[in-house]
Amino acid sequence: MTIFIEALPVTKLTGVGPALAQKLAKLGLYTVQDVLFHLPYRYQDRTQITPIAALRADDYAVVEGEVVNVEVIQRRQKILQILLSDGTGTLQIKFFHFTATQKERFSQGGVFRFFGQVKGFAYALSMVHPESINPKALSHQHMQESLTPIYSTTEGVSQKILLQITEQALALVKKHPQTLADLLPEGWMQQYQLPSLVEALEIVHRPSPDADISALLSGTHLAQQRLASEELLAHHASLRKLREHAKRFIAPSLYDKGELSKKLMMSLPYQLTAAQQRVLSEIKQDLARSHPMQRLVQGDVGSGKTIVAALAALTAIENGYQAAFMAPTELLAQQHFLSFTNWLSPLGVEVISLMSKTSAAQKKKHLERLKQNDPLVVVGTHALFQENVEFANLALAIIDEQHRFGVHQRLALRNKGLTHQLIMTATPIPRTLAMTAYADLDYSVIDELPPGRKAIETRVLNNTKREELITRIAQVCDEGHQVYWVCPLIEESEVLQCQAAEICYQSLTEKLPQLHIGLVHGRLKASEKDRVMDDFKAHRLDILVATTVIEVGVDVPNASYMIIENAERLGLAQLHQLRGRVGRGAKQSYCLLMYQSPLSQLARLRLDTMRETQDGFEIAKKDLEIRGPGEILGTKQTGLMQFRVADLTRDQAWITRIQILSQDWFLLHAEQVQAIIQRWIGEGTRYGEV
Ligand code: ADP
Ligand code: MG
Repeated sequence: MTIFIEALPVTKLTGVGPALAQKLAKLGLYTVQDVLFHLPYRYQDRTQITPIAALRADDYAVVEGEVVNVEVIQRRQKILQILLSDGTGTLQIKFFHFTATQKERFSQGGVFRFFGQVKGFAYALSMVHPESINPKALSHQHMQESLTPIYSTTEGVSQKILLQITEQALALVKKHPQTLADLLPEGWMQQYQLPSLVEALEIVHRPSPDADISALLSGTHLAQQRLASEELLAHHASLRKLREHAKRFIAPSLYDKGELSKKLMMSLPYQLTAAQQRVLSEIKQDLARSHPMQRLVQGDVGSGKTIVAALAALTAIENGYQAAFMAPTELLAQQHFLSFTNWLSPLGVEVISLMSKTSAAQKKKHLERLKQNDPLVVVGTHALFQENVEFANLALAIIDEQHRFGVHQRLALRNKGLTHQLIMTATPIPRTLAMTAYADLDYSVIDELPPGRKAIETRVLNNTKREELITRIAQVCDEGHQVYWVCPLIEESEVLQCQAAEICYQSLTEKLPQLHIGLVHGRLKASEKDRVMDDFKAHRLDILVATTVIEVGVDVPNASYMIIENAERLGLAQLHQLRGRVGRGAKQSYCLLMYQSPLSQLARLRLDTMRETQDGFEIAKKDLEIRGPGEILGTKQTGLMQFRVADLTRDQAWITRIQILSQDWFLLHAEQVQAIIQRWIGEGTRYGEV
């Protein structure tokens, strides 16, 4: 009998009726093959007892020790709190719901074994509601022999159900191994000594007692690597397909006549850096082609991406087309609108803006302009593409600070077809990661800062030094410096964030009555924000108190001090962006990172990194180590970079191996490639229409 596992519905498994099938569909499990590739996302290790001293927060572990204290404490509710000691350290065990018998059971001096997740911070580790076993009473109870797989679940689909159906799926495929084709490039299996697909699935779903536990826990087991390599290949192949797909569209060929751009360059007080010139010429080559450009330009904060974008826009204008420039925030859109107007109006190029604050009458007028056939540049927020804005002849769309736009927005834009796209980002991404995440884009890097930039001196300050800092700031403002004072997100809520900034603004105003201080945050009216930013730009303000709204792109070259409160709560990328607001002029600049002690280990690592380096790529590498790729790319929500087994940091070697597979390999194995995409990604579900 031949069976096609990729076409076998889950209902063929025992115990799976239509009702359960519907619930499984929520996990994306439609076929037996889907079940096989629903891999455990982690394992529980109940094979050994972990010494308390070796526990780390978030671990799942079995601990065993003596109860040295039992008490019931009264908080909002009663809590049963047990202190467990195993000679290496002590651990708090907490029960929020407990019975009198339970309380009696954990008498002082008793020896117990607990299994649960470790919570807490540096020195105060605890377990909340762990499973408990009294090993004396159950001396015959052995530790488990192998790792327990943990699957992601959904309502109505428990671990138990998933264990049962994966069990059946595994049995089925073991009986008919030929139904699950090995799709990796020939040669890889032998070269890297990989197990077959069926073996790999078996090991990953049901680790045997003699499997290498530490390799499995760290994801480096060959079985996991076997699967990770295929997953990365699937991911790469699908982005590649997306890119090929785009090449089938036609876009106007834009030739650089050079007149307008020459004039613009002449009017600048500086010359383009070699890196800016190189990237600009890469862009111009793309624009001259008859299919849409899809280029990502990456350049560290302050590397001068805006002028490159403006020069690219001129090529569209010279050819009689429209260009659109989109910024992620109103504040930035406004700033870019001013820059573009200053640069392009003297050349006789029309620049209009489209933002939410634009009055209804103005908006109507501008929308009408876009429908006419005249060349112009429009600057706005991404509302430009969300509302039903009609362009008569848009040839180039520039997206600034792409990491703020989700991948979906990028794809939505692409689906409009026909336009050249230039995507700019300051988020420095390590090369391997960029090649994976943006395999659907061409990629340029502005890897040089304009000359004469002085290194920003970065210091880390305990919050207790706040008063001294305020005195010092009064001095530097007297000397003509301007200061950003950032009160970042303390609470998730934007309202609270703005309140924090307001409180900080009030206290600084009271303490420094002789200085001019402004406040900008997300809840101000757009006109109010503009006024404050203009005042700061024109040096009518000494200090600008702000939330992280000023994080990206804001350009005030005279500002030379960046003070960030609660810096320990921000991620590296964000700190780097914020710091990038200073060091733009001729003055020596400073960045002061204030923190509230005690610092967690990770926070300390971040602050040290900031102090040690100003190189965006270095910082990105550290960030990748600390946080993992999903968060760096801002795609955690979109699911684009969520892998089942692969890990972009751990599995970089595979990314490189995939990169060197030739174009020919993909062409010659079209069916195999399609099957891999189908198996791991599912057609069209994650990437939009492929
Ligand atoms: P980002 O890449 O962060 O968007 P910007 O485009 O805002 O950087 O440029 C940062 C600053 O550097 C601006 O003040 C800009 O005028 C200036 N700048 C850009 N290119 C050069 C250059 N080649 N030489 C000197 N200054 C430059
Ligand atoms: Mg910028």
